[in-house]
Amino acid sequence: MKKVAIIGGGITGLSAAYSIQRAINNGNIDIDYILLEKSSRVGGKILTERTKDGFVIEGGPDSFISTKPWIFELAKKLGCEDKLICSNDDLKKTQILVKGRFRELPDGIMLVVPTRIMPFITTNLFSWSGKLRMAMDLFIPKKKELSDETLSSFIRRRFGKQCLDRLADPLVAGVYSSDPEQMSLQATFPILLEMEQKYGSLTRGMIATMRARRKAPALVSNQGGGNARLVAHSNSQASSKRTLHMSFRGGMQDLIDEVYSVLDKNKIFINAAVLKVDKVLKNNGEPIYCLHMADGKVIQADAVIICALSNDAAAMVEDIDKQLADTLKEIPLVSSATVSLVYRKKDVKHDFKGFGFLVPLGEGRKIKACTWSSSKWSGRVPGDEYVLIRVFLGGARTQELAFLSDEDMEMIVKSELKSLMGIDVEPVSMWIFRWPSAMPQYTMGHLDRVKRIEERIATHPGMFLAGASYRGVGIPDCINSGTKAAEAVLKYLSGSA
Ligand SMILES: Cc1cc2nc3c(=O)[nH]c(=O)nc-3n(C[C@H](O)[C@H](O)[C@H](O)COP(=O)(O)OP(=O)(O)OC[C@H]3O[C@@H](n4cnc5c(N)ncnc54)[C@H](O)[C@@H]3O)c2cc1C
Repeated sequence: MKKVAIIGGGITGLSAAYSIQRAINNGNIDIDYILLEKSSRVGGKILTERTKDGFVIEGGPDSFISTKPWIFELAKKLGCEDKLICSNDDLKKTQILVKGRFRELPDGIMLVVPTRIMPFITTNLFSWSGKLRMAMDLFIPKKKELSDETLSSFIRRRFGKQCLDRLADPLVAGVYSSDPEQMSLQATFPILLEMEQKYGSLTRGMIATMRARRKAPALVSNQGGGNARLVAHSNSQASSKRTLHMSFRGGMQDLIDEVYSVLDKNKIFINAAVLKVDKVLKNNGEPIYCLHMADGKVIQADAVIICALSNDAAAMVEDIDKQLADTLKEIPLVSSATVSLVYRKKDVKHDFKGFGFLVPLGEGRKIKACTWSSSKWSGRVPGDEYVLIRVFLGGARTQELAFLSDEDMEMIVKSELKSLMGIDVEPVSMWIFRWPSAMPQYTMGHLDRVKRIEERIATHPGMFLAGASYRGVGIPDCINSGTKAAEAVLKYLSGSA
């Protein structure tokens, strides 16, 4: 019987395992698989802590973007659609810190494009000259060709510097933990480049898209990067209630638990770090992959899907393909941290009517963003007595903050919350999660890098790469990537069986 080894038990690896398990259950194939995970748990960046007294604390992602179909498809197959929850959009307000004061993000901003006139005219987020400059988007000629550029350069060119500083930087760069001066627009928000080419103006393009959306099923926007496009949801999905960001009742970990629960536990190995992947050829020329494990064992497989991030993948393939490893290493990864704090509502003089706030780099603050988790999501705190706040630190331009000691991080977060929100009481509880080298950066040239990686990997039949490092960092993209890799492996093995 042929065997596939899946390396990495994040959502990408679990999605790959799930697809193969389903094919096995359906009796379609006669192959075996194993999943090898370095750490002591599966889930990777998706990590929810649920306390006995009813707090739901997200360590990594707290939601997913609903405009891509792959989580919904997976949840449907798993039969856990009832666990999906919408954000509390009646409180959907986000504040942005400008010159030390909070200004509300106006309604109708799609990605970074204003689509509604009155909220745009009346907002105090931009000055009159800033608004005028943004309106120039309607008249500025499009770039001659559809070539890549950084997010910063694009926004400056179309909407001006104020829009970059006050909107695009905190809004977009926050999602990617990235530096907009380095981010490849083609790899992250290709739709903006396409709109410019098609409509000559982003404002016109976005309004046309919104109109089309009202007539047709759904707008797919771009959080999570990769090949974001405008596509339609299937009818079954269109019928259920959606908000732009969605989560699971028990936190994002629900998704991991659901996938894990249907996998064959005899095939899942935790504390199983793969150090190196070797390749030997059988007499008939077919490859056998030898996985050298940290405990000294060697596991053989007919095919391998590497679902670890690019830097880890590079270390594994260094010996069999230095060029591939070197290209993988070209993808930068940045570090960040989240700090969750619970306060008694009565101790904090704040109404928490909103989803939280974003802090542009230029404000010179140490924190990047703050989500009022208990306002954004129902069921994150028990009863009505507490509020849960989540603060983000680190990212491309302030990575060092992710490595501060607990004491220093706590001090910084409390001092920022005091100064920005007037919170000067001790939290009831606090959780710190660090994510070293966790977020792949889609910098200029990313798509070319991915193409070179794909060309190299094609020279190793039976070896596949999947996950956040390549064509989308968001959870839906990772699911899609893992599922596609599983399909490719099944095809490969059935062809060579
Ligand atoms: C703080 C934070 C917030 C985020 N927020 C959001 C959000 O709100 N929405 C969203 O869509 N996305 C968000 N993301 C991004 C998203 O969570 C990740 O891109 C996604 O979960 C990555 O999944 P993955 O399986 O590709 O990688 P990972 O989750 O990194 O999994 C890879 C796995 O491979 C294992 N591994 C590594 N090396 C080896 C080895 N040698 N042998 C065996 N196993 C190995 C690792 O231990 C890990 O478990 C966030 C990320 C972070 C860090």
